[in-house]
Amino acid sequence: MTKYIGAHVSASGGVCNAILNAEAIGANAFALFTRNQRSWVSKPLATDEINAFRTLLVERGFDPKQVLPHDSYLINLGSPDEETLQKSRNAFLDEMQRAEQLGLTMLNFHPGSHLNKISEEECLDQIAREVNLALSKTQGVTAVIENTAGQGTNLGWRFEHIRRIIDGIDDKSRVGVCIDTCHTLAAGYDISTEMGYQFCFDDFESIIGFQYLRAIHLNDSKKNSGSHVDRHETLGNGFLGKEFFTRFMHDPRFDDMPIILETPDPTRWSEEIAWLRSL
Ligand SMILES: [Zn+2]
Ligand SMILES: [Zn+2]
Repeated sequence: MTKYIGAHVSASGGVCNAILNAEAIGANAFALFTRNQRSWVSKPLATDEINAFRTLLVERGFDPKQVLPHDSYLINLGSPDEETLQKSRNAFLDEMQRAEQLGLTMLNFHPGSHLNKISEEECLDQIAREVNLALSKTQGVTAVIENTAGQGTNLGWRFEHIRRIIDGIDDKSRVGVCIDTCHTLAAGYDISTEMGYQFCFDDFESIIGFQYLRAIHLNDSKKNSGSHVDRHETLGNGFLGKEFFTRFMHDPRFDDMPIILETPDPTRWSEEIAWLRSL
C-alpha cells in the first residue's frame, strides 16, 4: 500500500498538460478540470485529445485510480432554482461523460447549496436524485462527494449530510467520498489534535464508513475549527499544523487513493510533496 500524492494541476492548453504538470512536481496522483470550470458549456473533447490523454497516462505510469477530475464550481445539484438545476444537471452529466471518455474512474463534486429556499433534507435528497440520473447515463465513473466547510448554505459539511446523499444513491458501488482536510477543520471537526483526529475519523467510520473513501484533498487551513470559512493554507502553516500531517501520513486508512494538494502556492507543491514523503 502506498500514498499517492499530487496536486490539482493546470490543464490549460489541453488535458494532456495536466499529466506533464503532475510529473514535473514529482506527483504520483493529480486532480484536474476537464473543461472550463467557470463556464456552463464547453466544447466536447476531441477524439485525438482523448486518445493522447489515455496514451500519455499509461506512458507516464499513472493508473486512473490516481487521477481525480473535479467538476465545475458553477454546478449546484441541490439548487432550488429550476433553471440553475437544469444547467447543473446538463453540466454534471457532461463532466461525468468526459471522465468516462478519458478512461477515468471518478468525478469529484461539491454536493450543493439550498440557498435558504428548501430544507436541508429536500436539498440532499435532490442531490442524490441528480447523481442517480447521471450514473444511469454513464458507466465506470464513481461520483465522489467532497465534504465542505459549510460556508453559506453549502451542505456536505456534516458527515450526516453525506450519509443522507449516499442513502439516496441507487448504485452504492458508484458513490464515494473525498475528505478535504481544510474543510473538515473549518466545519468544526478539530482534527488538529490527536484526540480530535481520532474522534473525527471514528465518526467518519460509523456515519459514512471508510469503504466509501476514495480521495483526499490535503490542505492546511487559514481559519480555525468551526469557522465555516474555506481558506486553504500551505501545509504546516495553518491551524492543522505539522503534527496533523505526520499523523495523516502514518495512517493506513488513507493509503491507495489520490491525495491532492489544493494549497495556495503552486510553486511550493514539489517541496510540499517531498516534505510529506519525508514524514
Ligand atoms: Zn477540496
Ligand atoms: Zn476549499
